[in-house]
Amino acid sequence: MKYVLAIDEGTTSARALIYDQNGAFVCGEGREFPQIYPRAGWVEHSPDDIWNAVCAVTKAALEKGGLGSADIAAVGITNQRETTVVFDKKTGEPVYNAVVWQCRRTADFMKRLKDDGFSERIYNKTGLVPDAYFSAAKIKWILDNVDGARERAERGELAFGTMDCYLLYKLTGGKAFATDYTNASRTMLFNIHTLEWDGELLRLFDIPAAMMPEVKPSSCFFGTAAAGGLDGVPVCGMAGDQQAALFGQLCTRAGEIKNTYGTGCFLLMNTGKKAVKSRNGLITTLGVGGDLKPCYVLEGSVFAGGAAVQWLRDGLGLISSAAESEERAKAVKDSGGVYAVPAFTGLGAPYWDPGARGTITGITRGTTANHIVRAVLESIAFQTADVISAMERDSGIKISRLAVDGGASRNDFLMGFQADISGCTVARPAHAESTALGAAYLAGLCAGVYTGVDALKNRRSDVKLFEPKMGEGERLDLLSGWKSAVAKARLKE
Ligand code: ADP
Repeated sequence: MKYVLAIDEGTTSARALIYDQNGAFVCGEGREFPQIYPRAGWVEHSPDDIWNAVCAVTKAALEKGGLGSADIAAVGITNQRETTVVFDKKTGEPVYNAVVWQCRRTADFMKRLKDDGFSERIYNKTGLVPDAYFSAAKIKWILDNVDGARERAERGELAFGTMDCYLLYKLTGGKAFATDYTNASRTMLFNIHTLEWDGELLRLFDIPAAMMPEVKPSSCFFGTAAAGGLDGVPVCGMAGDQQAALFGQLCTRAGEIKNTYGTGCFLLMNTGKKAVKSRNGLITTLGVGGDLKPCYVLEGSVFAGGAAVQWLRDGLGLISSAAESEERAKAVKDSGGVYAVPAFTGLGAPYWDPGARGTITGITRGTTANHIVRAVLESIAFQTADVISAMERDSGIKISRLAVDGGASRNDFLMGFQADISGCTVARPAHAESTALGAAYLAGLCAGVYTGVDALKNRRSDVKLFEPKMGEGERLDLLSGWKSAVAKARLKE
């Protein structure tokens, strides 16, 4: 038996998960690493902490499975996207902590670019909307603020990497300096149409081209590990977390879509070889197609998904665990006309209204806690349905099946309501770790452990399906009630 090891380097923890040659999960280990908040709105990670966590979980996972590095045919890496490390090309020594995707330190700079009219130019090349999330301005910040960094970068001594690239460098003992298309597409420096680093954008952000890693397909030979307890094992897969999850869900054809229901929700839809331009504020980015070459993806997110359930538990004290929300919602036959819009931090696609605020409408004397709980769960499905319709409008493709994963996808009520309100089949695999599985698939396909995408699809037998059951009249009534509630959440005083 040959195995594939996936390293899942997330925002709060690093995990190592091992899969067998049938794609079945064998075992895994995880470890959190510290979050560093130097100022309000700033978030950093120590690259050393992350590397140490990766080494520790890899060792622990191998031990748990009774395996050695010789049993592992290939390693795949998936990672928090956009997070930026600048390090010395020779020694691998970072010049500064990793600046995390959530960090807002570059918000003013990005706002200035927007005000100066760069949005369209940036979108046309990168598919991204100017925001502090993306790597470009974070690199610039490091070069501008760390003593001597700019001079060293101009002398060609420094490298930029997202976490995949940095971990590859560490794993291969400094031999490989590369990233993959999906991670490159989140930097705001990569032209997703020509598949090259973009000279004009590098100049706009004042970044020497010599810092940029080679960009390779997500499923290919990246280098041989010489550290981290994986000596001699080839690294054969790399992809950003959401794109890895899309691949792990085997959404490899145009029109296939997944939603990850975590703290927020991340929806990604494969649009095949066509880069769809969004008129609804969605991002256009790169994913991995069935031919293992880059494909285009539309991406939209919901800010408050599972976070709204946490609020029911921690803010309102209406439930004692997230899982309890399911029985509370099922205890009433409907929400009793109550709608909750969890716009805690504004609304994302397709509204893009940072000024919207959380709102509960339709409360009567008969409203109970169960109705509120149900309305909050329903709001996660309504927001998801809004993003799906935006994707349908942009791409001209009708969605018939939604692949789901993430913590809140365990909620059967929510999944059933999602199927009803979106009028499509919701498909939930038993193994919810699509992100790690995607990295394992990418690596295993390249290494020959898995024979092909179709074979992986045929082997999928553990998917629970939720079919839409609601009548069209009721569905449209509910959607129209939701739209009115959203309008109220957006009212300005
Ligand atoms: P993240 O990766 O963003 O931390 P997870 O995928 O671990 O998120 O999911 C955690 C989120 O899912 C939490 O916000 C939690 O409130 C929510 N959640 C977990 N279980 C359930 C459940 N059974 N029903 C509804 N929400 C849930």
